[in-house]
Amino acid sequence: MDLGPEFVERFGYRYMVMHRSDLLEALLNAVRRSGLVALENNRCVTAVAIDGEVAKVECSDGTTFETYSLVGADGNMSVVRKSLFDSAVPQGQGYVVYRGTVPFQNMTEDAKGDAIVLYVGDAVHLIQYPIRGGELYNQAATFLSKMYRTDCDDWGTVSELEEAFADVAPIVAQSLQCVDRSIRWPLRDLEPFRPWRRGPAVLIGDAAHAMYQYMAQGACQALEDAVTLAKCLADHPHDPPTAFSDFEQRRVLRTSRVQLTARNFGEVIHYGGLAAEVRDAILRARNPRDYSHVEWLYADHGYL
Ligand SMILES: Cc1cc2nc3c(=O)[nH]c(=O)nc-3n(C[C@H](O)[C@H](O)[C@H](O)COP(=O)(O)OP(=O)(O)OC[C@H]3O[C@@H](n4cnc5c(N)ncnc54)[C@H](O)[C@@H]3O)c2cc1C
Repeated sequence: MDLGPEFVERFGYRYMVMHRSDLLEALLNAVRRSGLVALENNRCVTAVAIDGEVAKVECSDGTTFETYSLVGADGNMSVVRKSLFDSAVPQGQGYVVYRGTVPFQNMTEDAKGDAIVLYVGDAVHLIQYPIRGGELYNQAATFLSKMYRTDCDDWGTVSELEEAFADVAPIVAQSLQCVDRSIRWPLRDLEPFRPWRRGPAVLIGDAAHAMYQYMAQGACQALEDAVTLAKCLADHPHDPPTAFSDFEQRRVLRTSRVQLTARNFGEVIHYGGLAAEVRDAILRARNPRDYSHVEWLYADHGYL
């Protein structure tokens, strides 16, 4: 897809990639400047319960909180979700990611463009792009582990990574040498579900709709949630349950569609054999400036 001037003209903004720590720093600075938020670090929530109009939160250090409005933004393995909606459990398929950034100059000449490049293969892919104005190069290598089991966590090892990428094109093999091998990220998503709210509590972000990263949308959808939730709370400042209900209604179909599309996209990019040849022929025939397949994602702001 062409992310140049035509994209900007069509959607009114640039397609941007950034380091997640830069995004978090910008958000944290804005929170600090607002003076409206009390930040409490090193508190681990262990349980949440609803008692009438009140949500009760327990932390591992014994601290407890009571509130008329609780927002569970605690990610993929959310304790708030587990406490209030125990049937929604993230599931994996055996895919795992190794990723990280390196100084841009460490990359080979072939990899030094400014494009977002996705190399796809049979149950593997590598994505790479420059961030922080070309200072760093980000890479994520994903593959399907043959050792995958649901009852243990010792699959998706570095030696499996090397094996999965053993037969890739030389440019991918070279780039792979620069992929950080110190942390492994098993991939899991949630089956779309609702409700996300119970009385004075609501889920947002990955806690509500954890998704595969194949559409690069998890954090984007979490940010859209935050903007929409702020608007719903401003519309119903004295009635959080109604604000949460409004929020869920505005967001749930959109995020469910992103979750399901990410799953499908993951299936397509990981095709092998004849299916991969069919995919390649279809993609080759596409006009890179035809944005009709992503209009719903990038142009629809009906959730606001
Ligand atoms: C490999 C990979 C690549 C990705 N690439 C992209 C991408 O390109 N674009 C994109 O938009 N998204 C991407 N994502 C998805 C993105 O990282 C997530 O969707 C996003 O971080 C979700 O934000 P969140 O705030 O909902 O949850 P999180 O970022 O997980 O934040 C949850 C917070 O809650 C805290 N927390 C958790 N449990 C507790 C507890 N019990 N008590 C107290 N605090 C707790 C955590 O410490 C954390 O600070 C990717 C994800 C992965 C794994």
